[in-house]
Amino acid sequence: MEFLPVCLRLTESPVLLVGGGEVATRKARLLVRAGAALTVVSPEITAELEALLAAHNGCWKKARYAPSDLDGQALVVAATPDAAVNRQVFTDARRQSMPVNVVDSPQLCTFIFPAIVDRDPLLIAISSSGRSPVLTRILRRKIEAMVPAAYGRLAGFAGRLRQLVKDSIRQDSARRLFWEQVLDGTVAEQVMAGQEAEGERLLRQRLLDTRALPVGEVYLVGAGPGDPDLLTFKAARLLQSADVVLYDRLVAPSIVDMARRDAQRVYVGKRRADHSVPQTEINQLLVDLALQGKRVVRLKGGDPFVFGRGGEEIELLAEHGIAFQVIPGITAANGAACYAGIPLTHRDYAQSVRFVAGYLKNGTVDHDWSTFRSTTETLVFYMGLMGLPVICEQLQAHGRAADTPVALVERGTTLEQNILVGTLATMVDVVARAQPAAPTLIIVGDVVRLHQSLAWFGAAASR
Ligand code: SAH
Repeated sequence: MEFLPVCLRLTESPVLLVGGGEVATRKARLLVRAGAALTVVSPEITAELEALLAAHNGCWKKARYAPSDLDGQALVVAATPDAAVNRQVFTDARRQSMPVNVVDSPQLCTFIFPAIVDRDPLLIAISSSGRSPVLTRILRRKIEAMVPAAYGRLAGFAGRLRQLVKDSIRQDSARRLFWEQVLDGTVAEQVMAGQEAEGERLLRQRLLDTRALPVGEVYLVGAGPGDPDLLTFKAARLLQSADVVLYDRLVAPSIVDMARRDAQRVYVGKRRADHSVPQTEINQLLVDLALQGKRVVRLKGGDPFVFGRGGEEIELLAEHGIAFQVIPGITAANGAACYAGIPLTHRDYAQSVRFVAGYLKNGTVDHDWSTFRSTTETLVFYMGLMGLPVICEQLQAHGRAADTPVALVERGTTLEQNILVGTLATMVDVVARAQPAAPTLIIVGDVVRLHQSLAWFGAAASR
């Protein structure tokens, strides 16, 4: 090991930065974040560096570097464009056994700056021992994506309760097990969702009765419109933590596959008018599984709160006092429109957009059609394939021009995505000829005209 990773406490420590350009400014940002008392020695400095120093009680010595600048400093960073000066700083610092870093010259460093993933107070440092900063950055990006933004809050929470737990569970291994369960379970999810008080209540309750069954929790997770890459980080994380996954027809198999291998998978698929598992049974199943102490992920296509009956599923959970969270997903309208190159709003064509159910509970498409006449509003019909003739007819009867463009996006965002384009007058025939496969989304309005010019890019960008 060429460098031993350690974490320095720099609060109020005097640190010298030699140089005042862009590179020096970057280092200064980091040093003041760690609370260092910074002195910069350089004939010139960037405006940002000057402002940083002013904001953090730093000091600018407007001069060239001299060996006496090292006096009284805890460590030094050299970031000048002049190799001779940098080497001089290194030699002088070594003589005094002062830690020194010459930016971008690992051989002139007794310490180096790792790339960091900052979830304060949690820190992850990544280093290639100066060999490949780019590789380090790539790895950092991957870790950034993997570590929830709220892990810092969780670390703070754990720190705050550490002593309490220590006092309550004396035995080391039992305490470790306790923390493992807490930091990877319901309590952690509560804390990361900002419910620290509730997290603490659950933790204290568990401390009182460590034999108690863990309480289950239900996550209503939006799985997006099809492309697995459109899942949120949070959705992916919760999926991997679930004991049971309930999913329906709209959720791509590759997304269900992201669950833990040993997780139970339950298909509760739904097709229009052919509900494999009735909604009331799904609601009850969620409650039963949570009461057994399971972490349940209920995957919903798109967004759970957009025509997803998410509201009904959580009502029963709430009645039973079961903890739940709803994780938004990219709804079909957003996904399909982007991938089809149809902006839902546009300064020249549409100032508003309306998501409309193309199929109602009673099997009709009864809307107050008189409210749909605005030509500057884009309409997006979900579940609209069966009702398409009524939709086209009613919109025309209520003032929309017959040549208003209509697009039907079939299996939006998936590799099978296909787009049919017509007008209110022609769309029924277009669809009758093409026989599109579900799920389909219907977009009505002038924005559809942009599809021709933007679609190619949309498709290329998404594949
Ligand atoms: N909660 C979902 C919508 C469920 S209603 C969401 O937010 O997207 C089911 C309807 O969504 C389908 O009838 C269809 O109109 C639309 N839909 C869902 N996924 C789609 C996709 N990949 N492409 C086109 N339409 C889709």
